[in-house]
Amino acid sequence: MQQYFVKGELALGESVMLDAMQLHHIQHVLRMREGDQICLADASSQLFVAELKQHKDTFCAVVREQLPSCTPVVEIILAAALIKGERWDFLCQKCTELGVSIIQPLMTKRCVVKLKDSDIAKKTIRWNRIAQEACEQCRRSDLVQIMAPCTLKELVQQEAELKLLAYEHADQVSERMFDIIKAYPNVKKIICVIGPEGGFCEEEAVYLQAHGFLSVSLGARILRAETAAISIVNLLSSLYNS
Ligand code: SAM
Repeated sequence: MQQYFVKGELALGESVMLDAMQLHHIQHVLRMREGDQICLADASSQLFVAELKQHKDTFCAVVREQLPSCTPVVEIILAAALIKGERWDFLCQKCTELGVSIIQPLMTKRCVVKLKDSDIAKKTIRWNRIAQEACEQCRRSDLVQIMAPCTLKELVQQEAELKLLAYEHADQVSERMFDIIKAYPNVKKIICVIGPEGGFCEEEAVYLQAHGFLSVSLGARILRAETAAISIVNLLSSLYNS
């Protein structure tokens, strides 16, 4: 059943008007008809089944039944250095499917991608559309948020019970993910940081560690940035949110 996100909170029996893009998708792509059912996720991450009703030359959706919603128990914030084009889109899509709550793009010293201020709003809208489509596809009832890029200095202002720096030079024995997660069994919010294609420079790693980020190894191999992001989100999500 196709899922859509709507603004505001829904109640059983309520008639909901969908937005133009959603109606176009329903009418002209899926060619749905009156009586067909869709899934609606509302602003408080509740999930409902709704039935399409003819409304003038289009449809409205009547909320029929509430479904169990699966929102992550632990809020995972992925702070990832911006990487190029499609690989960034892929990172956003896969980490959304794997349970990230917020993606915070980072600008670090070795970032190849340099965004002009005039591009940031447009890019952020596009990234959030990728995340919304991934949420609809994997039936998340909570909407992943992708923020505008920030610096490490701005990032360290954010609070979390557990802050991880995925560091390619971390010690694979003494800085293992499982040992860290065992030492922090009951967290509600985690920030994990991933560097760009060129990695972190020494002073960035030292700066993050000085602000409470624990460096963690993702194994002996050097992973692509998007692979490292997918790997750490999947590890954290499956260990904390399962
Ligand atoms: N330029 C770096 C090098 O060749 O050593 C590689 C950087 S890697 C492409 C991008 C990011 O992925 C790293 O900054 C780190 O955050 C993460 N990463 C990759 N492999 C990792 C590993 N084995 N352990 C922890 N983090 C890793």
